[in-house]
Amino acid sequence: MKSVNISLGDVAIAVFEGLSDQLFRDATSCADRREIADGLLTAAILSWLAAHEPCGEPGCAPCAQLSTEAARTAVFLRFAESIARRRAEVIASLPKIPSRRPVNFN
Ligand SMILES: [Zn+2]
Repeated sequence: MKSVNISLGDVAIAVFEGLSDQLFRDATSCADRREIADGLLTAAILSWLAAHEPCGEPGCAPCAQLSTEAARTAVFLRFAESIARRRAEVIASLPKIPSRRPVNFN
């Protein structure tokens, strides 16, 4: 049997996407979808910030760059920006769909 290598991050993304799909299914308006997205993003950011609190071990190299709130925020913003940039690259790489032009019946 061939083994599949899936990271914990991939598992978290799949679970999160399943949850968001379930919540969006019940949304009846753009405002509802945005409110749901805001809630999901808030929970994700709070989870990320909590997981990136320094461990408190003196000399811990992985935590050195996260030692202050400002440093954690800067790391988080770079991470969020990289996700948005990757999404924009994927969208830009998709085949272009010709725009619909109004049909002239004259
Ligand atoms: Zn640490």
